[in-house]
Amino acid sequence: MTLRARRKIESYQLTQFSDLGLAEVLLRALSGEGYTTPTPIQTRVIPAILDGQDVLGTAQTGTGKTAAFVLPILQQIIKQPSSSNPKGCRVLILAPTRELASQIADSIRTYGRIARPSVAVVVGGVRPGPQIKAIAPGIDFIVATPGRLLDHMSAGAIQLNGTTTVVLDEADQMMDLGFLPAIRRILAKIPERRQTILLSATMPKQIRGLAKDFLRNPTEVAVAPESRPIEKIDQKVMQVDAVSKRRALVDILKGPQVDRAIVFTRTKRGADKVNDHLEKAGISASAIHGNKSQRERERSLAAFRAGHVKVLVATDIAARGIDVDDISHVINFELPHVPEVYVHRIGRTARAGKNGVAISLCDREERSLLRDIERLVGYSLATIPNPFGGEAPSARPDSKPKGRTPTKPNRRRPAQSRKNQAKFAATNGNRRDHNGNADSDDAGLARVLGKVGVSAAGENYLRR
Ligand code: AMP
Repeated sequence: MTLRARRKIESYQLTQFSDLGLAEVLLRALSGEGYTTPTPIQTRVIPAILDGQDVLGTAQTGTGKTAAFVLPILQQIIKQPSSSNPKGCRVLILAPTRELASQIADSIRTYGRIARPSVAVVVGGVRPGPQIKAIAPGIDFIVATPGRLLDHMSAGAIQLNGTTTVVLDEADQMMDLGFLPAIRRILAKIPERRQTILLSATMPKQIRGLAKDFLRNPTEVAVAPESRPIEKIDQKVMQVDAVSKRRALVDILKGPQVDRAIVFTRTKRGADKVNDHLEKAGISASAIHGNKSQRERERSLAAFRAGHVKVLVATDIAARGIDVDDISHVINFELPHVPEVYVHRIGRTARAGKNGVAISLCDREERSLLRDIERLVGYSLATIPNPFGGEAPSARPDSKPKGRTPTKPNRRRPAQSRKNQAKFAATNGNRRDHNGNADSDDAGLARVLGKVGVSAAGENYLRR
């Protein structure tokens, strides 16, 4: 281990939550969760926010970023109890997707278990009435997606003139979903004397521009993603005819080692079809994608989390931000057009120090996508036998029967990969779902995912 790495670990171990000046009610809630040691982003962001500074953070899901901003903001609310203006909130948190907004609200409730702040979630896909009612007396936290929040603001149901703290979470994803103009409009309505926290997995020019326009002398914090144990994931590929994929999938999912699995499809219709097929085959499954209502999406996730269904069939909307433990298998029913998405998908397994298995079903058409993925991860995936005929493993000139064979690192994106991505962009531009919400657009999310882990963090992310 290098000296630098050792120092990093030592300084990490030296800090406890109790060293960060957090209130007793928060420390108790944290120890109830079993957390004693702050993550690197928490160590750096909590003191800055407590100090009243604006923060510009490069961090992604899995780094503990939610607690990094929720804890110190809760502390401010506890230290200065005051009521918010009617129809207003003291703290506004903007997030790109409804699921992320709900998860942030859950974190506020968890860490605020003793402090008991008032929280409302304002997202599309559900009736606006209950949201308006919850906010009417004034509230501590609103966690919102930008589209629905603007609707309420235009209707006069929400007023942000008393808001003193704003968090923009996953700002690059919000930008990719086309929310940048909405964010600017929202920020323009909040008094300038406020604290602003902007977190983004990557820092493209537009996000820097947003920070320049809306943050005051921010403390900049960049943390590498927590080591994603991609090496702990047993990655395999099965060459199979497109028509045999469903049979292969059922066969895999009925295997004794499969406790809980996510199956990724490329399209919403594909997810529904696979889901129906699994149910007919006697496998309990639930589908989650952008055409489902918010209630359905939440119900599916809750059933999956609670173990009531064994399989979640998902488009890439489920690949980011959603934190479900104990997923033994990730199955790529179809390969993603953007290779980085593969890394995010398989990262749903092998969480919290566990091992996991990722199996990709690859038909003839998808071979170039597989090559892109292998180039990105730096090795050929082990091929597993295909009992269903069609695409024999030997059909792959570059395939090896077992083990990881190094490939050339993906320093430059290969031409084929660019072609695949162009195809992807052309066929999957930002669309709105049936509720008119861009926040649930699977393609947009997938594209964002592509930028997150690997291209931003570099190859180290994969190699660690
Ligand atoms: P986030 O990056 O906010 O999505 O958090 C990722 C996961 O880490 C969540 O399941 C959190 O509950 C968990 N977490 C957050 N802070 C800590 C901590 N200090 N120690 C252990 N786990 C944590």
